[in-house]
Amino acid sequence: MRIAFISDIHANLEALEAVLEDIEQQQIDEIVCLGDIVGYGVNPNECVDLVRKQCPTTLLGNHDAAAVELLSTQHFNIHAKIAIEWTTQNLRKESKHFLTSLPLKATKEQLTLVHATPYEPNMWYYITSLEEAAFNFQFFDTPVCLVGHTHIPIIIVLDSEKELYVHQNTSIALDSIEGSRLLINVGSVGQPRDRNPKSCYGIFDSEQGLFSYRRVAYNIQKTQAKMKKCKMPEFLLSRLEDGR
Ligand code: ZN
Repeated sequence: MRIAFISDIHANLEALEAVLEDIEQQQIDEIVCLGDIVGYGVNPNECVDLVRKQCPTTLLGNHDAAAVELLSTQHFNIHAKIAIEWTTQNLRKESKHFLTSLPLKATKEQLTLVHATPYEPNMWYYITSLEEAAFNFQFFDTPVCLVGHTHIPIIIVLDSEKELYVHQNTSIALDSIEGSRLLINVGSVGQPRDRNPKSCYGIFDSEQGLFSYRRVAYNIQKTQAKMKKCKMPEFLLSRLEDGR
């Protein structure tokens, strides 16, 4: 089975459409969405509709939760707060209903899936260091855990000697690291932050035991023009082309 993992779309329709088009050419059996469909961008309803149609497994992200008032925005920065207010006002009732129904966590084919962290996913903690990764390895039982949330693609390996390190490649074959466990961030479709503005997503091939990233270009100027029209903060526009 070949599963595509998308995350952190953030209402960026041009990015989502480009990624879905790429997925169509990759012999994918199923698409899983790890959350944050909305927030920042200005096409939340269109993105919710596409995800609802194409991703039988979809998880709740913190921006989704905030947009439907399941989470307060008190810990959000000012740009995120402005975007969430706009999103809450512009989401249709059916979109809100869908976001409200999403689970925090799922397991699939030996994979644990969560938006933020396997440890207390409803607290929306970030994994930004090897220490935080080491801690989180204790909170899933499967060989692999896939997350989103930081918008930074990374593969962290805990090997059979309990050694923890970052895998320096954009793909990883599970047989090459027997006895290891993996914590993988699949990156962001709609707002990449690893200095590469191209949309990022991951493919897991369970037969070949292979995980790999794909990067997809999309029409950033079109997204920015729409955001400008809706008076989104300038920083949210410029970060798209900078990939930060
Ligand atoms: Zn996000």
